Amino acid sequence: MKAVVYQGPYEVAVSDVEDPRIQDPQDVLVKISTTCICGSDLHMYEGRTDAEPGIVFGHENMGVIEEVGSGVTSLRRGQRVVMPFNVACGFCRNCRAGKTAFCEVVNPGFAGGAYGYVSMGPYTGGQAEYLRVPFADFNCVPLPEGSEHESDFALLADIFPTGYHATELAGVRPGETVAVYGAGPVGLMAAYSALLKGARQVFVVDKVADRLQLAERIGATPIDFSRGDPAEQITDALGDSGTDRGIDAVGYQATAAEGEEQPAIVLNQLVDTVRPTGGIGTVGLYLPSDPGAPNENAAQGLLLFDIGRFFERGLRMGTGQADAKAYAHQLRDLIIAGRAEPSFVVSQQVPLSEAPDAYARFDKREPGYSKVLLHPNA
Ligand code: NAD
Ligand code: ZN
Ligand code: ZN
Repeated sequence: MKAVVYQGPYEVAVSDVEDPRIQDPQDVLVKISTTCICGSDLHMYEGRTDAEPGIVFGHENMGVIEEVGSGVTSLRRGQRVVMPFNVACGFCRNCRAGKTAFCEVVNPGFAGGAYGYVSMGPYTGGQAEYLRVPFADFNCVPLPEGSEHESDFALLADIFPTGYHATELAGVRPGETVAVYGAGPVGLMAAYSALLKGARQVFVVDKVADRLQLAERIGATPIDFSRGDPAEQITDALGDSGTDRGIDAVGYQATAAEGEEQPAIVLNQLVDTVRPTGGIGTVGLYLPSDPGAPNENAAQGLLLFDIGRFFERGLRMGTGQADAKAYAHQLRDLIIAGRAEPSFVVSQQVPLSEAPDAYARFDKREPGYSKVLLHPNA
């Protein structure tokens, strides 16, 4: 079958790879209808990780079940499903508690598993014609038949639940004010989720004009960090000591404001943006500060975090991979009920063959490239 295969830094190819097959009675094979390119794929694409050439990318997958293992009880051939990016067993201590991003069974010795992601287990990615899904009864989320809401449902695999998770980590409640750093797909979904939860005002910080416009379109207040310190802009606009909640949807890849040389440390800006005793949710990725690791920014981001200021303001912070599986059913039901339409973030829908070009453009944050969906079997 055809799949998006990593070749080396800044290069992917659509090549023939071995067809996946049922390996365990609890597996299903899914014929992929939609699979998305994610900001997290770019960490591998840019050569910032240990990903070896040959790995098939793709952790945001949906499609129709093609083959069902003999031990699968709740799914049938022909069923339309989406797979939240966490590969999880469903029965370990963390899965039982809804912490499916930290499954102790699928990827022993490391926190959690994912499709097509380096160090997150042996699971091949779904930017391909077919995908093997282990522990399928747990990892497939059933969808209504047909093709309605395809782009909305595809976002249940990662960015919609991840944005929602950010609001849970921060503790967003109705009537509150929220600041989201980063208007990438994840930040936009966090802002959208905060608004769904009844936040009174949501600020979204970025410098990319068309991403800020998307934020404004959903009812958030855009803040361009190239026009001055974003924490000051937000506290001035609020006339208060800060927002109730803050979200980091940038991570270690923060970029500098126009005219500045060094990027700001987003976590410190959040500490200055959120009022004393408020909450912060960090879903932007930070890599462990291993001296041998290829990315120096990660270490920088960690070492320059001002724990003293964080302490002084009595803040709380939650971090980590999102338990996408934990929210996927409830967010699916909001989409079905017409109460959520996360696909406002989708900018391109292309066949698998166009993946190399789409990766290059998305990586450059080209205007108009907010979220790319690939259709391998179109
Ligand atoms: P993205 O790179 O498209 O978006 C990041 C945005 O942040 C960009 O629009 C960029 O212009 C903006 N930005 C850069 N520097 C900034 C600064 N100093 N202040 C404010 N904004 C700034 O990526 P994305 O797909 O939206 O993902 C965001 C992060 O979330 C990535 O680190 C990704 O790996 C991570 N992620 C985490 C999870 C999880 O489960 N925790 C899941 C998906 C993605
Ligand atoms: Zn993703
Ligand atoms: Zn588990």
